[in-house]
Amino acid sequence: MELKHIKEEKCSDCGAAIATEITNQKHTNGLWNEERHFTCGKRVHFIPNYGIDYEPRIDRECPNSKRVKAIHSKRSKLNEQITELINNSKVDGDYKQRLRDGIRFI
Ligand SMILES: [Zn+2]
Repeated sequence: MELKHIKEEKCSDCGAAIATEITNQKHTNGLWNEERHFTCGKRVHFIPNYGIDYEPRIDRECPNSKRVKAIHSKRSKLNEQITELINNSKVDGDYKQRLRDGIRFI
């Protein structure tokens, strides 16, 4: 089924191709729920509940976009700074390891 509300034919950030398209859950207003996933991981979603004027939203940003890359770069830099602070602190090694383990999953 052709998507009617999602017009992006390839990822507008990196040019990746379409990987998957989903249409399901027809709303009582007659509009279908639409999703388009790109091979880079970006996901665009049209939600019929909000009406025909609603713009599709990005459920998952392109990991190759400048914005996402900038966020990851800043986070990585902060993580390195925190790790260096932990490593240079005077607390015991067990506690240092627990701190490093704690920030690994943020
Ligand atoms: Zn992309």
